[in-house]
Amino acid sequence: MIRLLGAALTLVFLAACASAPAPVQVRTYTPPPGPPQVTATVQGTFQPNAYLRSCGGIYVTNAPPMDSDFWVTDYKPIIVVGQIVLATAPSNDVCLSSGFGFRSARRHDGIDLQSVPAGPVYSAAPGRILEARVSTGYGNMVLIDHGGGVYTRYAHLAYFSEGIQAGAEVGFGQELGMMGQSGNATAIHLHFEILTGNYNNPRGSKGLDPRNPFEFPAYNPGS
Ligand SMILES: [Zn+2]
Repeated sequence: MIRLLGAALTLVFLAACASAPAPVQVRTYTPPPGPPQVTATVQGTFQPNAYLRSCGGIYVTNAPPMDSDFWVTDYKPIIVVGQIVLATAPSNDVCLSSGFGFRSARRHDGIDLQSVPAGPVYSAAPGRILEARVSTGYGNMVLIDHGGGVYTRYAHLAYFSEGIQAGAEVGFGQELGMMGQSGNATAIHLHFEILTGNYNNPRGSKGLDPRNPFEFPAYNPGS
């Protein structure tokens, strides 16, 4: 049985960007054993899209498998990382502009998501904010600890939403800020990372292991 964070988290519908209604996906969260203890607070308004498409057809680096219309094949909008249930793309009506992995001999530690116009960025799961600050490369950046050795990072935000600061607890889908181009970014987009490991190491978030969001299994409430 998958163990999830917090109190009653109810995700009623996945907001489908295509015509087919999306199935109900997420039910409840209970915290994993041991620290850090995260108490899920208010659930935000975010409803993940059921599908994800490439922004640039075949010209997207490290793209996952796509169909002939450049929709990500077998896209999983809600995934399970360890004991944590996460939204794969924590912003609405986005396309994928870069995948995870090496590009130009540098490792891309997350995925890049764009929408036009730029939209709000949401917490991918309940957790506690470890960092909400300006970074040279990441620009306005939020790092969340979801418990169980799972973390997420949201970079290049235009600004932070009210109350988004280190130490604050967030529920699923709470607004963190607005998609932007702060830091080292050539276009307005969200750089989103899933990280695993232990933040309490000499390198902090840089000592965590970046993970490919497309490698994780879908959350199945019935399993
Ligand atoms: Zn990126």
